[in-house]
Amino acid sequence: MRADPIRRFLAEQDPPTPCLVVDTDVVAARAREFRAAFPGALIRYAVKANPAPPVLDALVAAGAGFDVAGPAELALCLARGAEPADIAYGNPIKKPRDIAFAFEHGVREFTSDAPDDVDHLGRHAPGSAVSIRVVFDAPDSVTPFGRKFGCEPAEALDLVLRAAALGLRPGIAFHVGSQQPDVTAWDIGIATAAKLFAEAGAQGIAMTRLNLGGGFATAHRTGVPSLDAYATTIAAALDTHFPGNRPELLLEPGRVFVADAGLLRTEVVLVAQRGERRWVYLDIGRYNGLAEAENEAIAYRFEPVDPPGGPSGPVVLAGPTCDGDDVLYQRTPYQLPLALRTGDRLDVAGTGAYTASYASVGFNGIEPLRTYCLGRWGDV
Ligand SMILES: *Cc1c(COP(=O)(O)O)cnc(C)c1O
Repeated sequence: MRADPIRRFLAEQDPPTPCLVVDTDVVAARAREFRAAFPGALIRYAVKANPAPPVLDALVAAGAGFDVAGPAELALCLARGAEPADIAYGNPIKKPRDIAFAFEHGVREFTSDAPDDVDHLGRHAPGSAVSIRVVFDAPDSVTPFGRKFGCEPAEALDLVLRAAALGLRPGIAFHVGSQQPDVTAWDIGIATAAKLFAEAGAQGIAMTRLNLGGGFATAHRTGVPSLDAYATTIAAALDTHFPGNRPELLLEPGRVFVADAGLLRTEVVLVAQRGERRWVYLDIGRYNGLAEAENEAIAYRFEPVDPPGGPSGPVVLAGPTCDGDDVLYQRTPYQLPLALRTGDRLDVAGTGAYTASYASVGFNGIEPLRTYCLGRWGDV
C-alpha cells in the first residue's frame, strides 16, 4: 500500500534501471512511529543507512538527530539543517583531526572503545559526552559486527575512569549487530551496562547516558519482530536492570527508518542454463546496490513487474559485473518464472537501507545506484 506512489512514479516515468525510489513521507512516518515507541529517548539516525539529502530533510523535519561516522556525514547533516547538539559521532574508529573537526562544528557526543581514542577525545573534544562501547556475546544478527568494535566489559570500567579523569562525561554504548531479529539481545546489553553503571558509581562516577545503538530489523523474505516487540523488551530490561533510575537513552536506528521506504527496480540482462542450474543475471549486483547480499546475509524479495505467466523454477541470481564474487544468491533458494527473459523487470522491495550508500563509484563503468526521492521532501 505504502509503495503505491513509488510504483506510480515508476510506471509514469519509466526511469532507466537499476534505480532506487524512496518515499520520504514513509521515512518521516517511520521516525514518528519510532519516537512514539521510545518516548523520551534521543534519536540519532545512522546516516550511513541512506544519506540521500531528501531523506535527511525528512528526518530533520521529524525531529530526529543524526549518528555520523566521519566529517563528510557530519558536514552533510549540518548542510541539511541539523543542529550540532543533535549529532553524535558514533564511530569508534576516527582520526584525531576528525574529532577536532567535529568538536569545532559543535558536536559534543562521541562513542569510544579504546584507550588511545579516549585520549584523543580528551585532547580534541574536551568536556564531551563519551559512551564507552562494550561488546558481549549477543545472539547473532544477520549482519554481525564480530569483534571489530567494542571493548570487553572487563576493560570498560578502565575506559570509563580514564574518560572521567580527562574531564569527559562517560556513559555506556552497545550495538547488538545490524538486522538483529532477537529482541533479547538488548536485554543482555542493558544488563551488561547496568553492571558497569554500578561499578562506576562505586568509584564515584555517576554515569547518566546509555546508548542502545541500532539493529532494529526490517522484513524481507521472512518477518521480523514489530517495533512494539523491541520497545516492550527494552522497557522491561530497563525496569529489571535499572529499577527506579532509568538512564537517559540514546538510540541509533538506521535500517528501520529507511528500508521499507525504498523500492529498487532492476532488469534482467541475461538468462543462461549452465549445467543443472539456470542463471539469471540482473543489472543490479553486489557492487551497485545489493552489497548486503554478501554471504547471502539479506535475502531480498524479487518480484517480476509484469509476470510472464507459466511455471517458475529455481534460479541462481547474479549481478552484471565481470567479478566472480558478484553473485547474489546461489545457496538461498529462489524461484522465478521459466519464461523470464532479457529486458524483463523485477522490483525489489524494502531496499531503502544500505543499498545506494554501498554502491561503488564506477566498477566496470557502472554508475552508483541512481536514487529518486518522492514525497514531501522529494527531489523529483
Ligand atoms: C550502522 C550503525 C547503526 C545503525 O544500525 P542499524 O542496524 O541500521 O539500525 C547504529 N549505530 C552505529 C554505531 C552504527 O555503526
